[in-house]
Amino acid sequence: KRQEIGPQEHGIDPSLVDERAVNVVRTLKEAGHQAYIVGGAVRDLLLGLRPKDFDVATDATPEQVKGLFRRAFIIGRRFRIVHVVYGRGREHEVIEVSTFRAYMDNAAAETVAGNEKTSRSELAGMKHAVDASGRVLRDNVWGPQEEDATRRDFTINAMYYDPETQTLVDYHGGIKDSGKKMLRMIGDPVSRYREDPVRIIRAVRFAAKLSPVGFKLEPKTGAALKPALGLLADVPQSRLFDEMLKLLQTGHAVATIEQLRGLELATGIYPLLDLVVERADQPFVRAALQDTDRRVQEGKPVAPSFLLASVLWSDVRDGWAGRLEQKQHPFPALQDAIDDVFNARIGDVSGRGKLAADMREIWMMQPRFEKRTGSSPFSLVEQPRFRAGFDFMRLRADAGEVDVVLADWWQEFSVASDAGREDLLVQVR
Ligand code: ATP
Ligand code: MG
Repeated sequence: KRQEIGPQEHGIDPSLVDERAVNVVRTLKEAGHQAYIVGGAVRDLLLGLRPKDFDVATDATPEQVKGLFRRAFIIGRRFRIVHVVYGRGREHEVIEVSTFRAYMDNAAAETVAGNEKTSRSELAGMKHAVDASGRVLRDNVWGPQEEDATRRDFTINAMYYDPETQTLVDYHGGIKDSGKKMLRMIGDPVSRYREDPVRIIRAVRFAAKLSPVGFKLEPKTGAALKPALGLLADVPQSRLFDEMLKLLQTGHAVATIEQLRGLELATGIYPLLDLVVERADQPFVRAALQDTDRRVQEGKPVAPSFLLASVLWSDVRDGWAGRLEQKQHPFPALQDAIDDVFNARIGDVSGRGKLAADMREIWMMQPRFEKRTGSSPFSLVEQPRFRAGFDFMRLRADAGEVDVVLADWWQEFSVASDAGREDLLVQVR
């Protein structure tokens, strides 16, 4: 089943390969181990895209890997992987190195976990990582490369590339599917979604990401999605929330909405995502989604607070207006309206202190843009989160909710010198 494919056939452009990933592979091989670039990076290389990050798979254990690099850290409880770090500060680059893992389907894992005669310490001795309840974390058992390939999700995500010999190793017809532009689950999709329901969301993510280059979900892989949706109920909310952010913040938010609708997954993945899909055609929300995609494409940072603040803004605005009608003062009215929205919509992310605080700040800043007298513009522009608040206001202006002139004024004010700022204030007096 193992296929080795040479450079003439796969056509990977070696200049797209990160030299630090090449260095990691070379170091591991020189120490006598097997090592390959793996996963999404190989998929992107085959498609002629520059991968955003590089993962390496090896038969060396995390401890062995760590021993070979100056700056390497073993991380993760569930999956123990090694981060090999190059460079410092903003420019630093992490190559993630994981040890080949065995493929255990649910049945195999549960046999081990459910065997009452097997004590927890025995389980640990069997080299299975066990969580607090004694459940086997089946992904942490080392195995041969072939099994490592089989436990992966899609055929195009399960290829290995040796940048030195330029050989591609393929066990599941990934290269063929890549040529056919087919997103195909390895094995039986129904059982693979049952094994790990998060794969449902991953299928949507890759379908969206690869739709511009013409990929389609293989029919069985696609057809099994909707019936599997209920399985997501067993996935921890925090993991679902993270996956939702990957759908919305990796540059393919608009394409994701299209996929979700086309696949009849518009509701049922995660409450907040349902809301995004429902509101995606509102001009303001649409603008926020497009803006997020554009920023990612341009390599600029994106914050989840911005997009979520956009999606929930109409709730905040309505609640605020209602309270103003009841003659509440504007600032406390806005504060209370925000509290209501947090309670109603994102109780489940309230633990994410920073995210909620950032959303609140963006919203609370909005009325302050109306006030262009005295010292208040000067203090507003000095706010650490001014840029996010301003970008939000700019989007409101684009959507026709505030005057474009106001947004332009603030744009000028934010870049002007002190004297220029005084002039701008005089203008609006
Ligand atoms: P991206 O370009 O978005 O990073 P990726 O394919 O690299 O895409 P990762 O989430 O970084 O995705 O995962 C790396 C690899 O690990 C995948 O290509 C796949 O082989 C494997 N993988 C990740 N999550 C799963 C999963 N839930 N089930 C099976 N395999 C998975
Ligand atoms: Mg990746």
